Amino acid sequence: MSALTPIGWIGLGNMGTPMSQRLLNAGYPVAVYNRSPEKTVTLREAGATVATSPAALLAAVEVVFLMVSDDQAVRELFTGPAGLLQAPGPGKLLINMSTVSPGVSREMADLSRTQGHTYLDAPVSGSVKQAETGQLVIMVGGEESGFTQAQPLFAHLGKQARHLGPTGNGNLAKLAMNTLLGFQAQGLAEALLFARQHQLKTEDLTALIADSALGSVFLKLKGEAVLADNYQAAFALKLLAKDLRLAQAEGLTTPLAETVVQTFQQAEPALGEEDVIAILKHLERQ
Ligand code: NAP
Repeated sequence: MSALTPIGWIGLGNMGTPMSQRLLNAGYPVAVYNRSPEKTVTLREAGATVATSPAALLAAVEVVFLMVSDDQAVRELFTGPAGLLQAPGPGKLLINMSTVSPGVSREMADLSRTQGHTYLDAPVSGSVKQAETGQLVIMVGGEESGFTQAQPLFAHLGKQARHLGPTGNGNLAKLAMNTLLGFQAQGLAEALLFARQHQLKTEDLTALIADSALGSVFLKLKGEAVLADNYQAAFALKLLAKDLRLAQAEGLTTPLAETVVQTFQQAEPALGEEDVIAILKHLERQ
């Protein structure tokens, strides 16, 4: 894919804004669309053009990325009155990087095929910092030829992009990853609360965990957040609750998963806007 290939980007939230900015910085002509037009200002000022609808965006570019909240957003953007499927001309590449169900990906891939387009599901692991620095991990489902075409673009967004097989497999891998994330968040919270119950200091425990075989970037960052009493969302608890529901709908019924899914659903109404590690506050209240 040449540096002149025009790229479209839909969804300028916490993740979509820095990701599209990276493609712009890499020299691609970028056009953007966001449901709420005020969020297009940053990209417009950085040199992107702004489209008035998903259909108008697709008509003007070769490749469109989506980075939006959920299944409903994806359906509306594809099938709405000025949606992607209304755009003329076959042969475009549609790359959905949102965390959504494998089912919606299969539906959108089928609809895209009827228009002569290729659809990839390509959700990511990593958060805003990794999006800004191009260090995401990208899980891809769909046709191998689409993956090959997208690889030079993925190289600007992530440190690893892996093709996992047919449509929906990227979404399934992402749900498996976020299941583990749920286990780790709740596991850390329970370990810290147990230690506190016995008057052990949180800073001692987090320091021990960080230097032990259990140490990881995730446990280190979340341990620091608990110590600083900082629950501002890097990854919102409500988004993880959504992902755990999606995983459950795909057959995640193992014992640990049952518990974690239930805990996050219970915590969501009061703590959904806070970070995933706010699960500690929920457990503490109980
Ligand atoms: P966000 O900041 O809440 O942004 C959501 C985006 O989706 C906005 O552009 C929003 O448009 C758009 N949207 C929502 N509903 C829509 C609809 N019905 N029609 C059209 N557009 C709609 O979310 P984010 O943090 O960037 O996350 C985006 C995706 O990446 C999610 O699937 C999330 O699970 C996943 N993800 C997030 C992280 C993270 O750390 N944040 C990490 C990995 C993966 P408006 O501006 O109009 O609301």
